[in-house]
Amino acid sequence: MTTTAGAPGTEQQRTPAASTSRTPAASTSRTPAELVGPRSRTLAARREAALPAGLGSSMPVFADTAGNGLLVDVDGTAFIDLGSGIAVTTVGNSAARVVERAHAQLERFTHTCFMVTPYESYIAVAERLNELTPGDHDKRTALFNTGAEAVENAVKYARIATGRPAVVVFDHAFHGRTLMTMSMTAKADPYKKDFGPFAPEVYRAPMAYPYRWPSGPENAAAEAFEQFRLLIDAQIGAQQVAAVVVEPIQGEGGFIVPAPGFLAQVAEFCRERGILLVADEVQTGIARTGDWFASAHEELVPDLVTTAKGLGGGLPLAGVTGRADVMDAAHRGGIGGTYSGNPVACEAALGVFETIEGEGLLERAREIGTALTTELTDMQAATGGLIGEIRGRGAMIAAELVVPGTTEPNAAATAALSKYCLDRGVLLLTAGTFGNVVRFLPPLDLPVELLDEALQVLREGLGTL
Ligand code: PMP
Repeated sequence: MTTTAGAPGTEQQRTPAASTSRTPAASTSRTPAELVGPRSRTLAARREAALPAGLGSSMPVFADTAGNGLLVDVDGTAFIDLGSGIAVTTVGNSAARVVERAHAQLERFTHTCFMVTPYESYIAVAERLNELTPGDHDKRTALFNTGAEAVENAVKYARIATGRPAVVVFDHAFHGRTLMTMSMTAKADPYKKDFGPFAPEVYRAPMAYPYRWPSGPENAAAEAFEQFRLLIDAQIGAQQVAAVVVEPIQGEGGFIVPAPGFLAQVAEFCRERGILLVADEVQTGIARTGDWFASAHEELVPDLVTTAKGLGGGLPLAGVTGRADVMDAAHRGGIGGTYSGNPVACEAALGVFETIEGEGLLERAREIGTALTTELTDMQAATGGLIGEIRGRGAMIAAELVVPGTTEPNAAATAALSKYCLDRGVLLLTAGTFGNVVRFLPPLDLPVELLDEALQVLREGLGTL
């Protein structure tokens, strides 16, 4: 925001990126109590009258422009963006190559429907994903619009390729909000509550979550694997299982990094039994974790990989990339969608690949990860047990807050910290099955000074809890 509580009016209004087309309104100093300006208040009233209550937003203000790590609201207040629109604007909001390509495509045509009249950019995106996803086997890619749609289609491919019905997912998983993916998602409130009945043939295994493993983190991998094995071999029957779907780092669940070795054991088990391993990289993929895909950190070579979020640089685009024999199993016309692989979104994705490669963003994600982890570790030492664990990879880092002296989830402190930061112009998202995780998903073009400023606000916020 333009000012801090302690020093109203002492800071300059920030301007958004030069690449954004409009500049914010003239500087106005506001204290946290006045966070929501008059234009946002007017829009909030219109929103309430026109939109259903179940659609929530974390921020009480409305966006006007964005770029260079800042979001500027309709009243001209700038916020430091630590959320990237939930891990979408990894290359920044309105990155030049993304905007140029999307713009040029808009002038050529907006849509033909790939199922009617195909175009080159779809193929180019597929070729890049085939190249960049883990493993050098023969691959194919089909494009969709959203993460949930990609996961749904991965399940369709797995079922038709194996002829088996069951899907195994994990505790703390998030795979989407459609019927199938909601059924695969773990958390009841808000995602599943009162929306049942759910899709059949979805089974859930424990996740090797080191921090919360009952007998200690050192036992997490082996014990979680044993329970997973028993679920499949003894309860479902391995010959019934089409796929195991797993996020290599669980996103909405709280950036849970599975205990080392767990995913490798799961992969081997699946291979032995003809079960397909699907890595849901919707949140972790496309440079977020400092590699193109988080599976690479574990040397995991999944049979299928789902992507979305960062892929389209802000435009809706998703993909399923997988073994050619699996992807070719679906019959003609069985897969697709009117908008799937929209040409503007495909051009944007090609701009995303170019930006990541041209600007060294894999390296930048790792640097951000190191800076965040170092700072958070320092804050952990200074805050007397409030931060139970810091985890994640690259520009996907989280801090799990607990009641000091215990491992009891501290959702109240998490909400208070997020509000403290928002009131001072820092957008910080929360996550976690127990609502007690603050997660850092900055755009990779976030300038160092803004990251430092945001961390200073965070440090002060932790001091108030
Ligand atoms: N899978 C994962 C791992 C996700 O994080 C999400 C979104 N948070 C989804 C699937 C669903 O994506 P979408 O909201 O685009 O449907």
